[in-house]
Amino acid sequence: MTQGRPLLNRSLAEFGTTIFAEMSALAARTGAINLGQGFPDTDGPEEIREVAARAVLSGLGNQYPPGPGIPELRSAVAAHQARFYGLEYDPDAEVLVTTGATEAVAATLLALLEPGDEVVALEPYYDSYAACIAMAGGVRVPVTLRPQEGAYRLDLDELRAAVTPRTRLILLNTPHNPTGTVLTREELSAIAELACERDLLVVTDEVYEHLVFEGEHIPVASFPGMRERTVTISSAGKTFSLTGWKIGWITASPDLVTAVRSAKQFLTYVSGGPLQYAVAEALRLPDGYFAGLREDLRAKRDLLSAGLAEAGFEVYEPAGTYFVTTDIRPLGEGGDGFAFCRSLPERCGVVAVPNAVFYDHREQGAPFVRFAFCKRQEVLEEAVSRLKRLAV
Ligand code: PMP
Ligand code: GLN
Repeated sequence: MTQGRPLLNRSLAEFGTTIFAEMSALAARTGAINLGQGFPDTDGPEEIREVAARAVLSGLGNQYPPGPGIPELRSAVAAHQARFYGLEYDPDAEVLVTTGATEAVAATLLALLEPGDEVVALEPYYDSYAACIAMAGGVRVPVTLRPQEGAYRLDLDELRAAVTPRTRLILLNTPHNPTGTVLTREELSAIAELACERDLLVVTDEVYEHLVFEGEHIPVASFPGMRERTVTISSAGKTFSLTGWKIGWITASPDLVTAVRSAKQFLTYVSGGPLQYAVAEALRLPDGYFAGLREDLRAKRDLLSAGLAEAGFEVYEPAGTYFVTTDIRPLGEGGDGFAFCRSLPERCGVVAVPNAVFYDHREQGAPFVRFAFCKRQEVLEEAVSRLKRLAV
């Protein structure tokens, strides 16, 4: 406190410490298996890490790289969008390298929002969205994904009803953290029509684009009328199992990239010089790499989902991402996911994340708990055998 007022400004006061920091600290303190924060326990391809090491030693990128990102990485991002989705972007005017998807989200929202602008976002939502909307002075308008027949789905009528004359943009995330939902072609097409009809921007976080086990990932930018109104965000963290590198990017029309760059230049200006060279090579890895990653994680999803079901959880099997959401009520635990996650390390040596933190309507998320399966098979097997103790 100084001058009789709290140090943290009012827009951030409600956010406290992120759940990921809290739960990883709990895991470190108790020695529990950390299925909370989503990071792999094996590092990405050695050949890519070697490129980064060589870049550091040979002096590539050790000084400030260009503000928009090194040309090699911007070309590789554009080539990736063309190769996987048939989307053509000009690497000079339509790609911007960022410090992870996190900075891409922050810079995009700071650039595009004015105080009072409404942002329609899918709830539950990744925690940085709410904080960045708040920092930009925006107002979040959640549209809740609800469990239906074993998966979380979007209600398109609710989405339409959430749009008002004050809506500036729709913030999407597919594949979706924490529910594992992958928006379908029909859903995306309806969202695209709505955006065009109401003249809205769309910001889409696609960091799990290569982790789809059921259906397919379709970028919303590929729908008619969307390319010029969509900012697509992704990053290297999940696709290459290098979450500590924090190299991300956006692809969008030149006007949108210019706007986002205006905000981004005052956040970090640039970062990760040598790592940018390595990610440029990673994005050009052969198809087998991407398929291998997906199949490895599919097996892990299956292992953890089956184990959780045997342990007595209701499991919403994810179509994508690193995460499986469960309902703890069938365990006879009551419906407080927070209390459950705080006691889990002591009870059985596992850490998970309460989905309630991803909701404005906290009560709607209360009984749901998220487990990450981006871990080695033996770690998942041990976690499952520990979780089975809950049933007895
Ligand atoms: N968006 C979503 C949906 C995420 O789950 C995460 C966490 N990995 C991020 C963004 C942040 O990505 P990055 O680590 O590249 O900043
Ligand atoms: N995206 C990761 C998750 O959802 C966490 C990233 C972070 O700690 N900020 O678990």
